[in-house]
Amino acid sequence: EAGRAVAESSGLCVRRGRIQALRGVDVAVRPGEVVAVMGRNGAGKSTLLGSFAGLHAPGGGSVRVGDAVPHRTRPQQLVRRVGLVPQEPRDLLYADTVAAECAAADADAQVPPGTCRALVDDLLPGVAGRAHPRDLSEGQRLSLALAIVLTARPPLILLDEPTRGLDYAAKSRLVAQLRALAGGGHAVVLATHDVELAAEVAHRVVIMAEGEIVADAPTAEVVVSSPAFAPQVAKV
Ligand code: ATP
Repeated sequence: EAGRAVAESSGLCVRRGRIQALRGVDVAVRPGEVVAVMGRNGAGKSTLLGSFAGLHAPGGGSVRVGDAVPHRTRPQQLVRRVGLVPQEPRDLLYADTVAAECAAADADAQVPPGTCRALVDDLLPGVAGRAHPRDLSEGQRLSLALAIVLTARPPLILLDEPTRGLDYAAKSRLVAQLRALAGGGHAVVLATHDVELAAEVAHRVVIMAEGEIVADAPTAEVVVSSPAFAPQVAKV
C-alpha cells in the first residue's frame, strides 16, 4: 500500500462550543511526510490535530487514522496509531517523577517495561528518572512528551506549537528528531507559527483560515506564493 495516507479527513466539520472551528477540511498525510499546519490564532490548527487524536467528534464529514475512527477508538488502541504532543505538555504529565511517567506510558502502550525510559535517555540525556516533570524546562517537557508518545511507535505524530519557548539548540535538536522520525516512516503533522521550522522540516505546508484550508502545497511553493505567508516570511 505504498503511498496510502496514514491519516486523512474528508469534509471534516467540528464545533467547539458555539464556534464552528472546522468547516469542511480535506487533508491527507502520508508515511514519511512532515506537514506544517499554519495560520492565525483561532484558525483551527489545534482542533484539526485534536480531531486526529480523537479529542473531538466530527459534526460532519469524517476523519480516520489508519483504519480507525479516532474518537471512537479506545485509548489503548489509539496510542498505537496516533500520538499528540499538546501545546502545553505539562497538562499531560501527571506523575511525580519522570520514571513513573515512563512506567505509565509503557503500561498504556502495552510495551515491555523500560521502553519509554530508553526513549527518554535518548531524547533527554542526563535527566534523572526521579526528576519531577513539572521542574523540567519547556524544551525538556516537550522531549518527555514526545518520548511518551513514541513509546507506542504510532505511525502518526502530532505536535502543537513544538518550538514555543525553545532556544536555538533545543530547536535544532527538535528539527533533527523530526527528520529522523520522518526518515523512519512516521508521518508528522505540526501546528506552528514558526516559519523557519516549517521551511526546515516540512515537506508540505497547509494554511488554515477560519476553519478552512486556504492553501496546501509543497513548502517551497507556499513560501514564495502565498499572501498568508508573506508577512511572516518578511520577518525571517
Ligand atoms: P492557536 O494558534 O491560538 O492555537 P488554532 O489555529 O489552533 O489557534 P483552535 O485552537 O483550533 O485554533 O481554535 C479554533 C476555534 O475554536 C477558535 O475560534 C477558538 O476560539 C475556538 N475554540 C477553541 N477551543 C475552544 C473551546 N474549548 N471552547 C469553545 N471554543 C473553542
